[in-house]
Amino acid sequence: MSGSAPDSAIPRRCLVTGANRGLGLEFVRQLLARGDRVIATSRHPGRAHALNQLAGQNPGRLHVLPLDVAEPKTHAELARELPLVTEGDGIDLLINNAGVLHSGERFGHVAAAQLDDSLRTNAAGPFLITQALAPHLAEGAKVANLSSMLGSIASVDGFHTPTYAISKAAQNMATVLLAQALRERGIAVIALHPGWVQTDMGGKGAQVTPADSARGLLGVIDSVGIADSGRFIDWQGNALPW
Ligand code: NAP
Repeated sequence: MSGSAPDSAIPRRCLVTGANRGLGLEFVRQLLARGDRVIATSRHPGRAHALNQLAGQNPGRLHVLPLDVAEPKTHAELARELPLVTEGDGIDLLINNAGVLHSGERFGHVAAAQLDDSLRTNAAGPFLITQALAPHLAEGAKVANLSSMLGSIASVDGFHTPTYAISKAAQNMATVLLAQALRERGIAVIALHPGWVQTDMGGKGAQVTPADSARGLLGVIDSVGIADSGRFIDWQGNALPW
């Protein structure tokens, strides 16, 4: 892809949403391991034990802040708090990772409340958070939105996980629009499919470990440049159809 390899001597500032478990927690572990500074958000920081343990092991390099991606009031609170922990530096990488999947949905019984929750969490959340944090993104920053193959309209082959699929397709449109809005500042915005990953969402039978998925995705994020902004890419670097 068109980006150049990052200078590993320069610690980056990264923000990861939904970082208390699953892929989000693994992103935080790997970003810290490579020397980056991380702001990890969680709905309930007081209960985010793994994150708080990591914060203790990485003094001054990991801050845990509250954020409910489905609640715009908390986006504004995060935007207000950010300069206190970044000392005014911009964010180099925003990973919109938090997501929800309501399983067991059947046609004829899909609930409005679950469609609403999926849209607020998976589509409106990443869009509004990126908008709220845009003033705090560094020039040339990257925004990575965790999407899913299930949001690919071109790949639909059955009535699977409808509220999730609708919300991830909407998120994909948000990614493409954000890519347009932020292009003039050199900020690349991409949609990523992490594979079928062994997390609470993916289940134990999934194919990919969180460590392998996060490593692959961080490699993809490092490799993309502004010319790749608005693309849909999987954890192994393959282009995906919308
Ligand atoms: P997960 O294990 O279910 O973890 C989801 C994370 O999102 C948790 O930290 C959860 O926080 C957080 N979250 C959910 N709703 C939130 C809200 N309203 N505000 C803030 N945080 C919220 O899922 P995962 O497998 O790590 O998935 C990470 C991302 O990858 C998601 O966007 C998902 O759609 C995508 N993805 C996953 C797979 C897969 O196979 N696992 C495949 C394709 C795409 P709480 O602990 O507070 O609930």
